Amino acid sequence: MKHRIVVLGAGYAGAYVAGNLARRLSPADTEITVVNAEPDFVERLRLHQLAAGQEIEARKLADVFAGTGIRLRLARVTAVDPERQVVAVADADGGGELGYDTLFYALGSHGDDCGVPGAAEHAFDIAGRPSALRLRERLDSLDRRGEAGSVLVVGDGLTGIETATELAESRPRLSVVLIARGELGARLSAGARGHLRQACDRLGITVLEHTSVEAVEATRVLCADGTALASDATVWTAGFAVSPIAAAGGLEVTENGRIVVDRTMRSVSHPNVYAVGDSAYAIGDNGRPLPMSCASAGFTGLQATDAIVGRLTGRKIANTKLLYPGNHISLGRRDGILQMVDDEAQAKPKYVGGRKAARVKAGILKMSLWSISHPTFGLPKRKRRRVAAAPDASAEKAVA
Ligand SMILES: Cc1cc2nc3c(=O)[nH]c(=O)nc-3n(C[C@H](O)[C@H](O)[C@H](O)COP(=O)(O)OP(=O)(O)OC[C@H]3O[C@@H](n4cnc5c(N)ncnc54)[C@H](O)[C@@H]3O)c2cc1C
Repeated sequence: MKHRIVVLGAGYAGAYVAGNLARRLSPADTEITVVNAEPDFVERLRLHQLAAGQEIEARKLADVFAGTGIRLRLARVTAVDPERQVVAVADADGGGELGYDTLFYALGSHGDDCGVPGAAEHAFDIAGRPSALRLRERLDSLDRRGEAGSVLVVGDGLTGIETATELAESRPRLSVVLIARGELGARLSAGARGHLRQACDRLGITVLEHTSVEAVEATRVLCADGTALASDATVWTAGFAVSPIAAAGGLEVTENGRIVVDRTMRSVSHPNVYAVGDSAYAIGDNGRPLPMSCASAGFTGLQATDAIVGRLTGRKIANTKLLYPGNHISLGRRDGILQMVDDEAQAKPKYVGGRKAARVKAGILKMSLWSISHPTFGLPKRKRRRVAAAPDASAEKAVA
């Protein structure tokens, strides 16, 4: 019987893992199924551009995986049962259960309203495509009515900064306000902070620092100091959260629901389960948890793939790098910041700003999309590995 590998989620981590497995394992011994809720690969890194009104070409997952042997199941995962080794899915036909021998959990994350009253009901987020499109529709409707409109972007993390600058550049009639709880861009170096401030000035963005939003209403937000700020659209970018599915299934998770994994991305509670990307709580080479990021999706995906290929084929499992190289922040289409970080993930004084940084970021986006769109590029089929006689992901005998 073939070893059944089920990959949950076809975002940056899941699509990468599925493609990597398909090119490294023989289809004679393994069956790879990817479950994803949406039919397209969603370029999350560009959702602020989508919200701003730019056209982002969507890649059909059916095309991405065509000819790879990977089965695609378009369905929503509703539960995992690691004791019975099944996943429950729901689709237009009612759904059902999928059995697995090895599970890769890569369901990513969604916007976190942080429990702030009214944020879930009244604010927009851009952590997923449907919500980014809702924001875009709201901004288009202001445009159609001939209203300039005011947008409040809550949160000055990377997503908030990218969103505020993109909206201000693409829709210059909008009045954009960026709300930071502390100093703007506090995690950047002094030089990069200065660059960011200049970019906000150039784009006409009002920056409110040391401001904490306590409640969101339909047409305004309320701040901790009692101020009420009028808003035609409030964009909530104050963090990401993960689905409760892993915790509900009994997998060992952190307080905020991320799956706790070992150095090989294997669940510490269920050895047949691997977690990658935003869903995984993985410790990087610097001894700190890897942040939710595209880079972490790639590094955890590569390590998890190496681990399962090693365990199934009896080959040595390499310790691949688990790094966070730095922040690549777009400030509209013609400006950006590349902030280098040290081993402790703290900003180094060195940064690159301006057009060069924008070009590097554009290159990174292109490269990520290319690697997802060419899942079996790199190795001729004849180099695919055969699975050892008794394919059992949990069998320690195969572990190097
Ligand atoms: C606007 C924006 C800009 C960003 N910019 C950067 C950046 O510049 N650099 C950077 O490193 N990171 C950036 N990030 C973060 C980055 O996008 C994430 O860290 C990355 O997408 C994580 O990859 P993932 O595969 O874990 O999750 P995702 O890419 O989110 O993939 C998860 C997949 O699972 C599917 N899914 C979810 N739930 C279910 C379910 N119940 N059933 C079936 N399918 C499901 C989703 O449809 C999706 O396809 C940005 C994020 C946003 C929102």
